[in-house]
Amino acid sequence: MTALVIVGHGTRSAEGVAQFAALVERVRTCAGGTVGDVEGGFIELSRPPLTDAVGALVERGHKALVALPLVLTAAGHGKGDIPAALAREQQRHPGLSYAYGRPLGPHPMLQTALAERIDAALAGADRAGTWVALIGRGSTDPDANAEVAKVARLLWEGRGYAGVEPGFISLAEPSVPAVLDRLRRLGARRIVVAPYFLFAGVLPDRIRAQAREFAAAHPELDLRMADLIGDCDALADLVLERHAEAVRGDIRMNCDTCAYRVSMPGFVDKVGRPQTPHDHPDDPVGGHSHPHPHPHAHAHAHAHADPHAHPHAHAHADPEPALRPGAVAIVGGGPGPADLITVRGRALLEVADVVVVDRLAPQGLLAGLRPGVRVVDAAKSPRGPSVGQDAINTVLVRHARAGRRVVRLKGGDPYVFGRGHEEVLACAAAGVPVTVVPGVTSAVAAAALAGVPVTHRGTAHEFTVVSGHLPPGHPDSLVDWAALGRARGTLVVLMGVETIGAVAAELIAHGRAPGTPVLAVQDAGLPGQRSLPARLDEIAAAAARAGVCPPAVFVIGPVAAFAAEPVLAASGH
Ligand code: SAH
Repeated sequence: MTALVIVGHGTRSAEGVAQFAALVERVRTCAGGTVGDVEGGFIELSRPPLTDAVGALVERGHKALVALPLVLTAAGHGKGDIPAALAREQQRHPGLSYAYGRPLGPHPMLQTALAERIDAALAGADRAGTWVALIGRGSTDPDANAEVAKVARLLWEGRGYAGVEPGFISLAEPSVPAVLDRLRRLGARRIVVAPYFLFAGVLPDRIRAQAREFAAAHPELDLRMADLIGDCDALADLVLERHAEAVRGDIRMNCDTCAYRVSMPGFVDKVGRPQTPHDHPDDPVGGHSHPHPHPHAHAHAHAHADPHAHPHAHAHADPEPALRPGAVAIVGGGPGPADLITVRGRALLEVADVVVVDRLAPQGLLAGLRPGVRVVDAAKSPRGPSVGQDAINTVLVRHARAGRRVVRLKGGDPYVFGRGHEEVLACAAAGVPVTVVPGVTSAVAAAALAGVPVTHRGTAHEFTVVSGHLPPGHPDSLVDWAALGRARGTLVVLMGVETIGAVAAELIAHGRAPGTPVLAVQDAGLPGQRSLPARLDEIAAAAARAGVCPPAVFVIGPVAAFAAEPVLAASGH
């Protein structure tokens, strides 16, 4: 039977620690044989530390645990710090596995417990004339703050209070005085301040102090404090319910509004970032709420210790993954064969959630993607001079903003006639982090795979790569064809199947010898690779006769003659 370790974040309050211990004891009693064993521990500040609790369970022979974060909402502690502490326990105890439970709230049992605490404070006064300020722990995580607002709404539904408004202690607005002032202006005469907190601690104390201060300044108000949820049977039952869920592997979390996954206004920096310690601005001791920055703390490892058990869990040991959620990598895939991509490019493909792929990108790489990875065929986006590129840019930005790791897989090198920089600029303009992974360009590789070096000592001391997309004389052409005609080095023409006749004529007109060797290489590196040698003045007719079609490069210059004496061993493709 799985053992349960209840994980608290720790508190400076001795009363809070005692309440935690009492709850652990109560869960043990309530479990009545449904749980193998129960221990509780804290990740910081308080005793016993988590490592003792886990150590005790391991000593008693437990290898498989349910770890339950004793938190009301999923914020930094539940998403980052506690999973990180558990990951360290796993390193300490090889073979230890655990299922990670979800946070306690929102849950009807908690709403009922809150209503009971509020009723106790009302002591018979009517609900209809009562406003409630529900005060949660403010977070830098908007999703966690939104949960408090949701609980406030659920508490109001059907219970007959005049109204329930959410407020926050530390780090989020409205603050305690701000929400009380709001209620006062709405005409409230009786207000109950209900802390949405489990146990005693520094923050609940501060709520009480701020409420008292507000009451002193507004003697006309009947302002009362409700008790904390505290150690009670309802809470123990809820812990056992969450335990049962985790045992069943039935963890339902809504990750759609999580700032660690999804880029939201004002929070774009959070996506994929580990937890960082932060000061509570109104903390009188001025200390860090997290005194130990956790180098392994990973945002969003919130469902399970095993990163593969949950599609949203990113529990990497590596503190800075190569491709963060919400980022784009423009990856050069090489000229065609699956094994001519770089090691870095391959590693990014392995972690990608979405791959946006070009027609000329190595299709063989797609078979090796993780199951569930979304493949977007960029060739299917609307055609046309720039419409297609705009559509691709939009797709990249949209997936990144949804918190996915996006790989844009291109043929060859992204910056060689690949429009890679347009995509980089589009991402940057949208505030999406973007990186580029260079690739093996067909401009060099196609010749090489056909046995031709683009330079060779004593034969060619330069090579020029030129696009044949626009023929010589085209008004938009930026190429100095006359200079290329005068030059003696190697000229590699890409995208030139349609224009090779015009290109050859122009080069000859400006001084290249008609007998200059040319090699056309089609489908370099792929099973259908073929090459066709010809003289410069005959290449267009020869290519047309042979039916050369894209993708193909033309290698023009003395080095092309090396193709006539093949010396390379077969590559195995
Ligand atoms: N960024 C790519 C080039 C894109 S332009 C790179 O660096 O390789 C597309 C052109 O590349 C094609 O028209 C063709 O000229 C060339 N090309 C790409 N893959 C090729 C291949 N496997 N064999 C021959 N030519 C190829």
